[in-house]
Amino acid sequence: MLVLKFGGTSVGNAENIKKVVEIITTSASQKIVVLSAVSGTTNSLLAISKTIQKKQLKQTLELIQLLENEYQILINELFVTNQYKDKALSFVFEKFNFLRSLTGTDLNLENTIVAQGEILSTHLVSLYLKESNISSTLISALDFMEVKKNNEPNISKIKEQLTAILNQKSTENLWITQGFICKNDAGEISNLQRGGSDYTASLIGAAVYADEIQIWTDIDGMHNNDPRFVENTFSLEEISFDEAAELAYFGAKILHPQSLIPAKENNINVLLKNTFSPLSKGTIIKNKTANNGFTAIAAKDGITAIKIKSYRMLMAYGFLKKVFEVFENNKTPIDMITTSEVAISLTVDDISYLSGIISELEPFGKINVDSDLSIICVAGDFSQKKEGISTLVFNALKNIPVRMISYGGSDYNISLLVKTTDKIAALNSLNNELFKEKYLLSEAIETFEC
Ligand code: ADP
Ligand code: ASP
Ligand code: MG
Repeated sequence: MLVLKFGGTSVGNAENIKKVVEIITTSASQKIVVLSAVSGTTNSLLAISKTIQKKQLKQTLELIQLLENEYQILINELFVTNQYKDKALSFVFEKFNFLRSLTGTDLNLENTIVAQGEILSTHLVSLYLKESNISSTLISALDFMEVKKNNEPNISKIKEQLTAILNQKSTENLWITQGFICKNDAGEISNLQRGGSDYTASLIGAAVYADEIQIWTDIDGMHNNDPRFVENTFSLEEISFDEAAELAYFGAKILHPQSLIPAKENNINVLLKNTFSPLSKGTIIKNKTANNGFTAIAAKDGITAIKIKSYRMLMAYGFLKKVFEVFENNKTPIDMITTSEVAISLTVDDISYLSGIISELEPFGKINVDSDLSIICVAGDFSQKKEGISTLVFNALKNIPVRMISYGGSDYNISLLVKTTDKIAALNSLNNELFKEKYLLSEAIETFEC
């Protein structure tokens, strides 16, 4: 069994959906296909949910109409027969009427509203498969994908429920389901957070012991740096779970931060592929020793640094425990931490409970809060602690003020905290310094080939 996930751009218009269908029908192997919402839909649905909450009736109806118009265009371009066009249009009409019926509600229905994106894309693709005489079965993620009270996936329930559904039709070769959406332990509609369809694919892959999990997107795999901010990045052929997990956690948007955990735990390879260039190799993420030296760079924005400067000698026995307890009590994970004899600096990306954290920390010392920061993650294999690694990193950043550094915590990551306004410069300087030899080599090969 293979699990193939297609992201928002891959199902973003009729032409792209046809590419997806070509990919999922080229081999005969059994597949579960996980689809995101059409690109832009989740953002629009979130905006609709906000205007509903604010009781802005006119804006709500306008936003709903704008989105519905986009689906009408998609349907007209995708389907060939009037019979299927009508089926698709009436499904879409029903869903948008449901959204209209929510105007005026006092309930917070954001999760229900945002779930309609994946429900729409999967229904349309499955209708298109029917019109094209391709056998497939649409299954609802809401019938098997479940999270617990702490929002962690309920692995045993997912496995049990999904297996029962698949067993009802064991001869089926092609299953279609929604990414991102799930139920919580109270049976309400919930989700796996933004970009969560990757996580769905990995959870399904683990539940069915898939032979491979494929993440199909709009780029040919994991690049050595963020292509949105750095030119001439290159695709990595093979990386380890540990390196890829660090990159995903620290901002490589191509993967949801948690999405590699189920795959890694079950030793299932994850292949990143480009829907628009299916013959490109892509990147295989597997259980292997990390690449020697530097592999890739990523950046995560929205970081806040908190510094606690002790009134007394800080590193007294039990002091760190007390500080960590403050974050635990406030359900806030810490990303980076550095300590000195008199101060601790740490970073968080979730500031929902920041005021509580600060008031609980105040008795310990003077608190300083710094926001609009980014963590730059340099991933690679640093387990040997070879000489020269830190020199190269420091050299690259000689003109950029670095607020914090974390090296040695993980064998696969060096983290650096910079102002977000310095992020692009930092990514580019690191790129030039750390991958210099690689670029020189490919330049030489190009010249030789000419
Ligand atoms: P999808 O909608 O298919 O889930 P995403 O937009 O979530 O796609 O992820 C793909 C995007 O991730 C790429 O278009 C690229 O701009 C961005 N990206 C950021 N960092 C990297 C990286 N290191 N390698 C590849 N893509 C990256
Ligand atoms: N549609 C959701 C989002 O835009 C989930 C996903 O695309 O993975 O975040
Ligand atoms: Mg994504």
